[in-house]
Amino acid sequence: MTVDVAIIGGSFAGLTAALQLGRASRRVAVFDTGRPRNAASPAAHGVPGWDGRAPGDILAAIRADAAAYPTVQFHDHAVTGLTGTADAFHLTTDGEAVQARRVILACGVTDRLPPIPGLADGWGTWALHCPYCHGYEVKGQPLSILGRGPMAFLMAKLLRSDWSDDVTLIAHEGEFGPEAEGEAAALGVRLIRSPVQRAETLATGARLLLADGTSLLTAGLFLHADTSFAAPFVADLGLATAQGPTGPYVKVGAFNATSRAGIFAAGDITRPAGILTPALADGAITGTAAHQSLLWPDRFPPLQEG
Ligand SMILES: Cc1cc2nc3c(=O)[nH]c(=O)nc-3n(C[C@H](O)[C@H](O)[C@H](O)COP(=O)(O)OP(=O)(O)OC[C@H]3O[C@@H](n4cnc5c(N)ncnc54)[C@H](O)[C@@H]3O)c2cc1C
Repeated sequence: MTVDVAIIGGSFAGLTAALQLGRASRRVAVFDTGRPRNAASPAAHGVPGWDGRAPGDILAAIRADAAAYPTVQFHDHAVTGLTGTADAFHLTTDGEAVQARRVILACGVTDRLPPIPGLADGWGTWALHCPYCHGYEVKGQPLSILGRGPMAFLMAKLLRSDWSDDVTLIAHEGEFGPEAEGEAAALGVRLIRSPVQRAETLATGARLLLADGTSLLTAGLFLHADTSFAAPFVADLGLATAQGPTGPYVKVGAFNATSRAGIFAAGDITRPAGILTPALADGAITGTAAHQSLLWPDRFPPLQEG
C-alpha cells in the first residue's frame, strides 16, 4: 500500500490530523492499537464542547468525522518499525507493509504505575494524575499525594489552594528531608512518612493501607506515573528527544516537525505533560503541515538542535 501520509496512532491527535488530510483528499492510512492514554477514565474533563463525556465517545465522534472522507483508511493494528526518508518511508506493521511520503507520530505515551497492589483498579477514577482533569469531581474531600520529590510539593500547593483543605502528602519512597515537615505545615498539608502497601477501592475513593499498620481514606490519590513511548520503535528513530519530569518526549519545532525531514509528531508524545485539547490542536497543525510539506518541502524543515 502506498499513501501520502501515514499516521501512527488514531486517537485525539492522530484522528484530528486525519480529518485535515481527508479534507485535502490526500491518501491517508491511520494505524491504531486502540489504547488511548485516558482509556481507564469514565469521563474526560476540560475539553471544550465535550466536558465530562466518555473518552471513547469523543474518539468515536472524531473517527466518524474523519471516516466520512473516502481517502482516509483505518488499520486497527500496530506499526512496528519505520525506515526510509522523506517521500520514501517504509512502515512495517502487524498487517500489510506501507510506503508513505510523510509520517505523523501520534502514538502517545504509556503510564507505568507504581507497583502497589490495588492501585491499577483505581487508575482514572480515584488514582488520578491531574487536578485540572479530575480534581473538581473530588473537591472538598480528603485528598492525598503519592510522594515524588519536588513535584509532590507543587501538587500539594495546587490541591490545598483550590481543591481541598484536607490534603495528605505521603513520603511513599522515603523521599523528603527533615525540612519537609515545616514545608508541609506552611502549606497546611499533613505529611505521612510511611509507604502505601496496598489500596482497596471503595464505593467512592479508596482506603490506603500503610506500612506502619495505619490506613488512610482518600477520595483522590494524585500521583506522577513514569511514562515511556507507547510505540517502542520511536526510541530507535534517532529523533531529538528531551527528558520531562516523568519520561522522554519527542522534540518538535515549527509546525510540529521533528528533527527528521518528513516526520511530524503530535499530542502527548511531544509534551512533558499532556492534556487532550493540545493534542487536538497538534493534530490540526500536523495534518495541515504534513499536507503542505508535500507541496513546499523546503518550508517545513526538520527541527535543528542547538
Ligand atoms: C488516567 C488519565 C486520565 C486523563 N484524563 C484527561 C482529562 O480528563 N482531560 C484531558 O484533557 N486530558 C486527560 N488525560 C490526558 C489525555 O489522555 C492525553 O492528553 C491524550 O490522550 C493524548 O492524546 P494523543 O492522541 O496524543 O495520545 P493517546 O490518546 O494516548 O493515543 C495514542 C494512540 O496511539 C496508539 N498506538 C500506540 N502505539 C501504536 C503503534 N505502535 N501502532 C499503532 N497505534 C499505536 C494507541 O493505541 C492510542 O490509541 C488523561 C490522562 C490519563 C492518564
